[in-house]
Amino acid sequence: MNQDDVDLTPCYIGRKTCGCVVAVTVDRPEFRRDNIKTVSAWMREGLTIEHTTVAQARTMLSDCVHKSPKKTRGSKHTDAQPSLLKL
Ligand SMILES: [Zn+2]
Repeated sequence: MNQDDVDLTPCYIGRKTCGCVVAVTVDRPEFRRDNIKTVSAWMREGLTIEHTTVAQARTMLSDCVHKSPKKTRGSKHTDAQPSLLKL
């Protein structure tokens, strides 16, 4: 099997609600049984399942940078009360 064949191999990816693709599994007949378990586990974790190719998945897969449960981020308080900035 050459590189092009690998790149065109179908696979499933799991996307988090923040948009990060954090999981991938190759969709091949010999893995079908495992993939059913894998994909349903992803769904339980709240991932959105998409079907794509290995080449696409490779470009999308990344570590989620939104792991921190902290919700207090810098962007909110500046536009919440703009009048305070003038004091
Ligand atoms: Zn993320």
